[in-house]
Amino acid sequence: MAGVRSPRAAVDEPEPLVSVEGLVKHFPVRRGLGRAGRVHAVDGVDLRIRPGETLGVVGESGCGKSTLARCVAGLHPVTRGRVMFEGTDVTRLSKAGLKEFRRSVQMIFQDPYGALNPRRRVGAAIGDPLAIHAVAHGAERRRRVRELMELVGLNPEHYDRFPAEFSSGQRQRIGVARALALRPRLIVCDEPVSSLDVSIQAQVINLLRDLQAEMGLTYLFIAHDLSVVRHVSDRVAVMYLGRIVETAPRRDLYERPRHPYSAALLSAASVTAPEDPGRPGPAGPGRAEADRARRGRASRRLLIGDVPSPVDPPRGCRFHPRCPRARERCAGEEPPPPLSDPQAPEHVTACHFPLESPAEAPGGRSEAPR
Ligand code: SF4
Repeated sequence: MAGVRSPRAAVDEPEPLVSVEGLVKHFPVRRGLGRAGRVHAVDGVDLRIRPGETLGVVGESGCGKSTLARCVAGLHPVTRGRVMFEGTDVTRLSKAGLKEFRRSVQMIFQDPYGALNPRRRVGAAIGDPLAIHAVAHGAERRRRVRELMELVGLNPEHYDRFPAEFSSGQRQRIGVARALALRPRLIVCDEPVSSLDVSIQAQVINLLRDLQAEMGLTYLFIAHDLSVVRHVSDRVAVMYLGRIVETAPRRDLYERPRHPYSAALLSAASVTAPEDPGRPGPAGPGRAEADRARRGRASRRLLIGDVPSPVDPPRGCRFHPRCPRARERCAGEEPPPPLSDPQAPEHVTACHFPLESPAEAPGGRSEAPR
């Protein structure tokens, strides 16, 4: 079935908070004294994030999702393209403009301990943004930090403790409190729970969701764990080798993936928790579960090989060396910009031969084209 070009024309979208347009971020690779090439970390990404939503970005390690996160947060200069925040291109801001932008956009990092200075008391660390932006001083700053600690479930009496005196989950709460200090509009969460135990992951995710509801926050949520992304996201973007290959509302993506890579990832992960990590879905265990497990076993055979080097990405469709549906055209011709599904205009896929039904997913009933 042919798709419809330009999802933007097809969908009457609300004004986005963030609009990423043609974003490219390359890093030079040096060998000895010379330049040996470029890492194509992000290679032409378009994204929109609406106010108050959570956009999850998922993909294998090395696909460029953390670089994308840092570019959106203004922590990396971009090679090309634009990051529009409330209508302003933040890639062109002056130093002063960038400082102001950082009041509105904060990051939560994967390693909460690494993000904290072990020799600084946590109260001082949480209050750093208030000091840097000259928002509050002395007793007022201390009062606001204690409020933030309470907000994220930390004991304000522990203001003068050092990071090593907190558990990993509490350290991530410190990171969240610090990110909230300036009351940002957008929080970029870069694998915020991947270093935590599963039970602690659920606590931190629930905290982020509660804060979103209470404060109207918008999240860009980066993760490699499909269950976590499913639990937190309103919409999900799947990234492969520097590009977004599919974007869809959460339920649509998980129930009816159209890009062969998304389908293989989902099957390989055997995502069994539609709404809650660790809990069976509405249909419960049974035939659907067994079907997913079967597809998972099949996809582990089908998603062969490693992610190719981002220094020298494959020509044509970047996924073609690993794609079970690849045809001759895929090796020679890049897929067009993401096309929307006529039945679901928000579901966009960059593929010459997208899947038409779940049965076509790896391990499904119908035969993939050869
Ligand atoms: Fe597979 Fe071809 Fe689609 Fe790429 S364009 S994902 S190789 S079917």
